[in-house]
Amino acid sequence: MTRLKIAIQKSGRLSEQSLQLLERSGLAFAKSKDKLFWYGRNLPVDLLLVRDDDIPRLLLEGVCQLGIVGENVAQEKILEARERKPAADLEALARLDFGHCRLMLAVPEDMPYNAPADLDGKRLATSYPQLTRRWLQEQGVDADIVTLNGAVEIAPSLGTAEAIVDLVSTGTTLRANHLKATDEVLSSQAAVYRSPRVLDAPAEQLLATLLTRIEGVRRAAESKYVMLHAPRARLAEISAILPGAESPTVLTLEGQGDKVAVHAVCTEQVFWEHLEELKRAGASAVLVLPVEKMLA
Ligand code: ATP
Ligand code: ZN
Repeated sequence: MTRLKIAIQKSGRLSEQSLQLLERSGLAFAKSKDKLFWYGRNLPVDLLLVRDDDIPRLLLEGVCQLGIVGENVAQEKILEARERKPAADLEALARLDFGHCRLMLAVPEDMPYNAPADLDGKRLATSYPQLTRRWLQEQGVDADIVTLNGAVEIAPSLGTAEAIVDLVSTGTTLRANHLKATDEVLSSQAAVYRSPRVLDAPAEQLLATLLTRIEGVRRAAESKYVMLHAPRARLAEISAILPGAESPTVLTLEGQGDKVAVHAVCTEQVFWEHLEELKRAGASAVLVLPVEKMLA
């Protein structure tokens, strides 16, 4: 019997949401606290819990068939693998809209900096040497790369580099180290990747089913079911305000000739501003409900 293995981060910023996504996709696992391997209880899909940096290699080697990892890590490791094997590649099947971060060039606040060309002849500390090298090449800049596995942000104050390329989400760490982010090297989020190894037909089928479910969970997470009452005369106006809604359902309200009930699935985020706009257009009794699953 074919079983698929999915690799996710064991403990870190991607762990909880990766697991949640798989569970919402209908997978249940026999969890064991200390073990790295969770057996799939309801489908032939098992989980491997590992360091995020190991996920691309597990996929490239065919140990796992699917993996959830940040694009930053995946792309860095693919470039690294290409140094040994030029054809190495991983296919990104879906971006997951969590784990957002940006790989940024940051320079000391007091360093004069206008453009990447100012980095010529300087040293850049980073944990992402491959992505940094590619970016420097694209910019036509000749700088040295100092590879560090952690504490990259203190390199300029230690004098081991003049600037850094590091992941940034809020910028607090940078400010604490008197650095300012200047250029974006890569914008990243978590994504599902597949192994380049060829699968047999049942495994391929299972993988397709899983992906459809993941896509359904992802779409449902953004979607809301909106119900409201609207003056019949302003139906078109009100429908146009509903974000990402296709042809809403319109129902008559018993005993109220000029008013109808409108039900719609909004596939884009519904903000308070939308509700206020709906109200101004004459809508009343507006309800916004979460959508749990979606199958197109
Ligand atoms: P591991 O022990 O698995 O190697 P780690 O320390 O490398 O963990 P985390 O800090 O948990 O990794 O980050 C995992 C991923 O989360 C990053 O590679 C990146 O894709 C994403 N991420 C999202 N926001 C941030 C952030 N502010 N800083 C760092 N990574 C972030
Ligand atoms: Zn890591």
